[in-house]
Amino acid sequence: MSDARRAIPSLERLLSSAELEPLLQREPRERVTNILRSIQNEQRAAPPSATPDASWYAGAVAARIARANEHSLRAVINASGVILHTNLGRAPLAQAAIDAIVGVAAGYSNLEYDLEKGTRGSRYSHCTELLCALTGAEAALVVNNNAAALVLALNTVALSRSVVISRGELVEIGDTFRIAEIVERSGANVLEVGATNRTHVADYQRALPNAAALLKVHRSNYQMAGFVSDVDAATLARLKTPGVPLIHDLGSGLIEDFADLGLPHEQTAGEAIQLGADIVTMSGDKLLGGPQAGIIVGKAELVERMRRNPLCRALRVDKLTIAALEATLQCYARGTARSEIPVLRMISAPLREVEQRAKQFQQRLQKLGVNADVIAEPSTIGGGAYPGVELPSAIVRISGNAKQLEAKLRNSRPPVVARIADNHVLIDLRTVLPAQEAVLADLITHE
Ligand SMILES: *Cc1c(COP(=O)(O)O)cnc(C)c1O
Repeated sequence: MSDARRAIPSLERLLSSAELEPLLQREPRERVTNILRSIQNEQRAAPPSATPDASWYAGAVAARIARANEHSLRAVINASGVILHTNLGRAPLAQAAIDAIVGVAAGYSNLEYDLEKGTRGSRYSHCTELLCALTGAEAALVVNNNAAALVLALNTVALSRSVVISRGELVEIGDTFRIAEIVERSGANVLEVGATNRTHVADYQRALPNAAALLKVHRSNYQMAGFVSDVDAATLARLKTPGVPLIHDLGSGLIEDFADLGLPHEQTAGEAIQLGADIVTMSGDKLLGGPQAGIIVGKAELVERMRRNPLCRALRVDKLTIAALEATLQCYARGTARSEIPVLRMISAPLREVEQRAKQFQQRLQKLGVNADVIAEPSTIGGGAYPGVELPSAIVRISGNAKQLEAKLRNSRPPVVARIADNHVLIDLRTVLPAQEAVLADLITHE
C-alpha cells in the first residue's frame, strides 16, 4: 500500500470523530457514510498530496450535501436581449399561466374526468375549444412539443408512404433537429422535390400521384435570398388531390400578427388554416408565449385519427402544460395577450420605453459606483421566429473587466445571463422583468 492510501482514515474513525458529529446530528447517517465512501474512492483513484484530516472531511461532506440540496434547474435573469432564448427555456409564462399551474393542475383535477356526466373524460378536451376559436380550425390536439406534433401527424397520415417536401425546406432547426430525419423517424418516406434554391408547382405536381401527404415547413431561422422561388401554402392547397392532406409546420405558432409594430408579415395559425392547410402544427413556447407544447389544429377527421393513434399516448401532453396553455390561450381570447403574455409584451415594448428603463438603470449603477453608458443595440426575437428581424433597443454597457463581471453574474444567485461585446458587459433590459431590476443592480455592484 502506498503512503497516501494508508493515510486515508477509516470510515469508522471519521464517523466517530468530533468533527463529523454536527453533520451526523442533522443528516441521515447513511447519507454521510455514502458521501464519505465516494470521497475516499476518489482519493484511492487519485491520492491527495496532503493527508486530509477529519475537519477537512466534514467540510467536504457538508459542501456535497449543500450542492445536492440545490436545484439543478434554476431561475435566471435573462439580460441577453434574446426574447425566445432556447437555452433559457424559451417563453417565460404569463402570471395567469403560472397561477393555473399552481392553483389548478398541481393537485387533483378533472384532467380525464367529465364532471357533468361523472364519467371518464379526455385530457385532450381541455384546450380544444379555445384553439378552434382562435384559429378557425375544426379540431385541435395538444401533444408534448411541435416535433412530437409533426411526428404524430406524419405517422398518422403517411406511415410507410411518401411525404412530398421541397428541398428548400429540408432545414435543420437547431440542436440537430432536422426535418428530413423527423419525417423518416415518423415512419414516412421523404420525397424531395425541387432544387435547394427553387421549387416550382410542376415539381409538386409530378410527385403528387405517389404522395400520401404534402408537407410545408417554415424555414425557421434560415433565410434564402437571390435566385430563389418556392410554392406558397395557398397554391399547395389548391394543388393537392383528395386524400392527400397538406400539413403545414408553422413552427412558431403566431396567433396575432405584429404588422402594426412594423415587423414583416408572418403567417398566423388562423391564416394557414384559411389558406387551406388540412393540418397546422406549431410550438406552444415560441411566439405563442406559453408552455412547451405541440399544437395540432385542422380537419376534424384527421385530428381524430391522430388522437386515436397509439403513438399519441407516447407523446401525450402533461397536466401542468394543459393548465398553463389554457390560461395563455384565454389571454388571447379576452384580448389582453399583448399586456399579459411576457413574450408579446417584450416584443411590443416601444423603443422609448426600453430607452427610459436603460437610462434609469444606468444612473442607478452610476450612483452605486459602476461606470456604464447607454448605447443603441438591437434585441432579437430568437427561437427561429421572425428570421433576420431585429428590434431597435437601448442597452446598458458596463465598463471594467468584462470577462470577470460576466462570470460573476453567471454564478450569482440568481444567475444573470448577459452578453459580452468589445470587452464590455451588455445588459438588455427588454428581456429583464421590471421586478428583477433592483436585484440585478445589486448583483452587478456586489463584490
Ligand atoms: C421550432 C420548430 C420546430 C420544433 O418545435 P419544438 O416545439 O421545439 O419541438 C419544428 N418545426 C419548426 C418549423 C420550428 O420552427
